[in-house]
Amino acid sequence: MRHAPILPGSTIGCLGGGQLGRMFALAARKMGYRVHTVDPTPDSPTGQISDREFSTAFDDIPTLLEFASTVDVVTYEFENIPVEALDALAPKVPLRPGRDVLYTTQNRRREKEFLNRSGFPVARFRVVNNESELRDAVTAVGFPCVLKTADFGYDGKGQQKLGPDSDLAQVWRRHGERVGVLEAWVTFAAELSVVVARGYTPEPGEYQVQAFPPTVNAHENHILATSVAPAPLADSILARAQSIASDIATRLDVVGLLAVEFFLTKRGDLLVNELAPRPHNSGHFSFDACVTSQFEQQLRAVCGLPLGETRLLSPVVMHNLLGDVWANGVPDWSRLLALPGLRLHLYGKSEPRAGRKMGHYSILRPTVEQAWEVDAQAQKILNR
Ligand code: AMP
Repeated sequence: MRHAPILPGSTIGCLGGGQLGRMFALAARKMGYRVHTVDPTPDSPTGQISDREFSTAFDDIPTLLEFASTVDVVTYEFENIPVEALDALAPKVPLRPGRDVLYTTQNRRREKEFLNRSGFPVARFRVVNNESELRDAVTAVGFPCVLKTADFGYDGKGQQKLGPDSDLAQVWRRHGERVGVLEAWVTFAAELSVVVARGYTPEPGEYQVQAFPPTVNAHENHILATSVAPAPLADSILARAQSIASDIATRLDVVGLLAVEFFLTKRGDLLVNELAPRPHNSGHFSFDACVTSQFEQQLRAVCGLPLGETRLLSPVVMHNLLGDVWANGVPDWSRLLALPGLRLHLYGKSEPRAGRKMGHYSILRPTVEQAWEVDAQAQKILNR
C-alpha cells in the first residue's frame, strides 16, 4: 500500500506530555505542523507548546477518539498506554509506530521473548510466575542475577539484584508475587545505545532505515546521567550495534523511532538490554549535535517523509539535569550558560523533585575530552 506523506500544515497527535513529546513538538512546529497532545496532567511539558492539550487519562476512550478526530497521525512518547486505547485509536487514525510494536515493548517478558525468538543477543534469562519457578530460574541462570518486573508500569523501579545469600521467599514477596524476568547480571565494559528510524518510501513495501551515531551511556541510581558521542569504542562495535538496532526495527515493523540499549560485555559481545519505540534520553545529544535530531527524524518517519541525515556535527557530551540540583535553590543558569559550547534545555516542569528529569545540557567541543572538561566545570556549578 502506498502511504501518502503527511505534509507540513497537518496536525500530529502525541500521546504523552513529557519532555520527549515536548522536544518532538518543538521539531514539528519548527517544520510548520500543528500538535495536539494527550496527558492526564494539564500544562504538561508537551502541552505547553502544543496547539491543543487533551487533559485526560489514557483509558478515557471517548476523549481519545475525539482527539483522534482532530489529528492526521498519532505517535507517542511513552510506552505505558493501555492496549485498549491503542485498539480504539488504530482503526480511526494512522498510529506510528503501530499497536503491535508498543504491545511487545511495553512488557519486559514479551520484549525479551521476542528478541530471543528472533535470534537477537540477550543476557541469559527465564520468565518466572511463582516462587518455585524463581528457584528453578536462579539455578538455570546462576548468580549474580537480577529479577525485574515484566510490567513496566509497576511502581517505577521493580529490580532486585540477587546473590547466593538472597532469601528467595523474601525476594518473591518484595517483587509483588507477579510475573517477572530473571536475567543474568552482566559485568559490562560499557553501556551503549542506538536510536534508529524506519520509515516508508514512495515504493510500496519498501522502507528506509537510518541509525543515529551510538552513544556510550552512564547511569546513576538506574537513571541515565550522561551520553557521549562519538562513542569511544571500536568502529566495528558501533557498526554492529547500528546493524542490530536496524534489524530489530525491521523485524518489529517499526514506522517511527526505535531506541535500543546494549551492554557491551568484557569479551566484546553486544547484548540487547531494552527497547523503546520512541525518542530516547540517550538520543538527546542529536538535538544540538546532528544534522537531523531524533525528534525531527521521528516527525519525518511518522509523516512518511524522507529521513534526514544523522551525521554527527561535533563531539558532544549530554548530561541530564535532575531535580536534585535544585536542592540548594535554582541553579545558577548564568554561570552555566557562560561555559563554552553548552546548550541548555529545560522542560518546563515546575516541581524539581529528586530523581525527576528537569532538563539536560549538551556540550559541543572540538574533542570529547574537551567536552568532558567543560562538563566537570558545569557539575561544579550545579553541585555547589
Ligand atoms: P533497565 O531498566 O533494565 O534498563 O536497567 C537500568 C540499568 O540497570 C541498566 O542501564 C544497567 O545499568 C543496570 N542493569 C539492568 N540490568 C542489568 C543486568 N542484567 N546486568 C547488569 N546491569 C544491569
